[in-house]
Amino acid sequence: MIAQKRVFSGIQPSGRLHVGNYVGAMRKMISLQDEYYCIYGIVDYHAMTVRFDPKEMEESIFDCAVDYMAAGIDPTKSVLMVQSTVSQHTELAWILNTITPISWLLRVPTFKEKRQQNPDYVNMGLLDYPVLMASDIIVYKAEVVPVGDDQLPHLELTREIVRRFNSLFGYTFPEPKAMLGEVTRILGLDGNFKMSKSLDNCIYLDESKDEIWKKLSTAVTDVRRKRKTDPGNPEDCNIFTMHKAFSKKGDIDYCAHECCVAGIGCLDCKKILLENMYKELEPIQKKRHELSCNREHVYDILKQGQKRAEEIAVETMSDVHAKIGVKSFH
Ligand code: SF4
Repeated sequence: MIAQKRVFSGIQPSGRLHVGNYVGAMRKMISLQDEYYCIYGIVDYHAMTVRFDPKEMEESIFDCAVDYMAAGIDPTKSVLMVQSTVSQHTELAWILNTITPISWLLRVPTFKEKRQQNPDYVNMGLLDYPVLMASDIIVYKAEVVPVGDDQLPHLELTREIVRRFNSLFGYTFPEPKAMLGEVTRILGLDGNFKMSKSLDNCIYLDESKDEIWKKLSTAVTDVRRKRKTDPGNPEDCNIFTMHKAFSKKGDIDYCAHECCVAGIGCLDCKKILLENMYKELEPIQKKRHELSCNREHVYDILKQGQKRAEEIAVETMSDVHAKIGVKSFH
């Protein structure tokens, strides 16, 4: 039997998942489950690089696990685990820290962004985040990482760290490759910035149809289309990008054509999107409700995930220890 390549991907338990998370990485993660050995992590230590409330953390981890499973991560196929329960993530991160030049971290775009967003909370973890991310991936010797395109600089840094480790201590880790989803990024309702909880521009996976409509109906479209009688430019419209993520070809073609000839207004176009988006979200919401009512079952799955993840991580660390010359007397 040919060994399956390993996949790792993580999502921070930093609040409810939104359709940007779902389209950007999660759909891809779901589709990979039959072909690869997938390890999906709820990366709680990453969520500590910004101010957080410990009381909310536990609930956020639970919610994140429920979101993953409701959306289609199947724990009988994939490993679903919580980062902090497998201590090898942070152990390996320390070792990688010792071979990672600070200059590599200072040039990471998200560090610059977060530094600007939280000037009074520029902590070491914020700078070091990509090293922990590298560790999350390579502690499982993962070869494939489904990511949104905004994560590409982080993955490139992981590859650089891997090359450096392998050249210093001998081949240990494969260089992981990015796998992008078909629609890599949908912007927030403002049509300007990435969908993000902190920017309050999201549609959440658990929102009712009415709530989604309230948001969609006021969402920014092609800014040059001022009136219904103006022809629009679908390719410059974030609503059309959402159509490409949620609608079937017939509706996508119809909206594109009617937009270009001013045949439909933006509200009509958004109504079609609403129906298609909610068709996909409704079963996820039902499953989410069932899982939320069964806490023990969710915790059991996370415990099993921890066990399966640890088996691989322990093996990797024994290889790493041997390579760097520590713990040989254990
Ligand atoms: Fe965007 Fe649709 Fe309006 Fe065209 S009709 S600008 S695609 S919302």
